[in-house]
Amino acid sequence: MNKFDVIVIGAGPVGSTFARYIANEGFKVAILERKKEVGVPLQCAGLLGKKIKDINILPDKYILNKVYGAYLHSPSNTILKVGRKDPQAYVIDRIAYDKFLAEQAVDAGAKLLLNHKVKDVNIKTGEVYLENNSNKIFQGKIIVGTDGHASKVSDKFNPKTKSVMAAQYLLDMKKDVFDMDNVNPHVNSNISPGFIWMIPISKSMARVGLFANKDYNKLNHILKDFIHDNILYKNATILKKYQGFIPVYNPKKKIVKDRAILIGDAASQVKPTTGGGLIIGFECAKIAANTVSKTLQKEDINILKKYENEYRKRFKNELKVQIEVQIIFKSLTNQNLEYMFLKLKEGNAENLISEYGDMDSQSILIKEMIKNRLFFSILPKLLTRRIGNLWK
Ligand SMILES: Cc1cc2nc3c(=O)[nH]c(=O)nc-3n(C[C@H](O)[C@H](O)[C@H](O)COP(=O)(O)OP(=O)(O)OC[C@H]3O[C@@H](n4cnc5c(N)ncnc54)[C@H](O)[C@@H]3O)c2cc1C
Repeated sequence: MNKFDVIVIGAGPVGSTFARYIANEGFKVAILERKKEVGVPLQCAGLLGKKIKDINILPDKYILNKVYGAYLHSPSNTILKVGRKDPQAYVIDRIAYDKFLAEQAVDAGAKLLLNHKVKDVNIKTGEVYLENNSNKIFQGKIIVGTDGHASKVSDKFNPKTKSVMAAQYLLDMKKDVFDMDNVNPHVNSNISPGFIWMIPISKSMARVGLFANKDYNKLNHILKDFIHDNILYKNATILKKYQGFIPVYNPKKKIVKDRAILIGDAASQVKPTTGGGLIIGFECAKIAANTVSKTLQKEDINILKKYENEYRKRFKNELKVQIEVQIIFKSLTNQNLEYMFLKLKEGNAENLISEYGDMDSQSILIKEMIKNRLFFSILPKLLTRRIGNLWK
């Protein structure tokens, strides 16, 4: 039996970050990863709000581009320009960053075991069984599921997690055509509450993708049509195609049970509005590490429950607002969206969004829009009341 204080299942960015924190505290940590190489294939647009620098280590060498703002596109291409004078987000080399975070965990003392696919866990005893190596059993005082959207650990105490698909292309224009300072989200009721993104990584190359509640073939059709119909991408070469899953945030999901906890995509810790999971996952890794450390120090497994309380205290309200925004967004037709874009432009919303907008928390902006009575001019009263009630 291979005994550890903590067994982390999955060497994604969240698992490696958590493992680094716990190994730094001097605990014996193993990370079991099913892949033979950390970080591949890429399953991310790699856009991180500037807050990342306060939340995790991000050396500049992994930053491909700094983004100052966005052009928000309506279905018929009315554009809202938002942004600030200083960088608001970073576009990162996600594969290299995942490898870096795993190396940091190893440097802190964690044992990283690649080609170790977990088949089953016993959350009462802390035993972990591998798929192709039935003789080798691991045991941890605490088991941490950071095994992504289809988490085996989550399945032990939650119903199957719902996920939506995402598809992304790496486009090469072979000449300088892109404005590198801005990303371009495109909305359309056909894919709501998902959207299409264009994220430049250089003047000639961009990541163009989307997430929506549709199958991969349908996503590919939508993406191909979008590129074909958009003059900006004339003569674009698709260098690579990527696909992945984004878990649907579920406020009822349990993230602690017996000796097990969940963090990151495994815990469905993703922003409902954008599907982004890195910043929230990293913040939760920190919260979880504090609780796990106390649990091990005091040798009292009951302390583990505090992770769930701390997580809800920190994120409940923001995620509630984002779910409401998502529900409203989903209910809008393209006609509604066009009307909304026009009204927002007339109502000087570009300045308001530039001042209060934040990729990672939309509640402050929504509050300001309600205060400015901007929402009343663009949304039916019922919907405005619904979102206004969130703060009561
Ligand atoms: C197309 C796309 C674009 C995205 N763009 C962004 C973005 O721009 N910004 C952002 O913040 N987020 C983005 N996301 C979301 C982001 O990628 C995830 O939230 C993030 O990867 C979650 O990290 P994680 O460590 O929790 O899980 P993962 O990155 O999924 O890592 C899980 C790890 O567990 C391993 N594993 C799984 N099962 C087992 C098993 N049984 N045994 C052992 N190991 C196992 C996997 O191999 C993997 O290494 C995007 C997602 C997609 C699909």
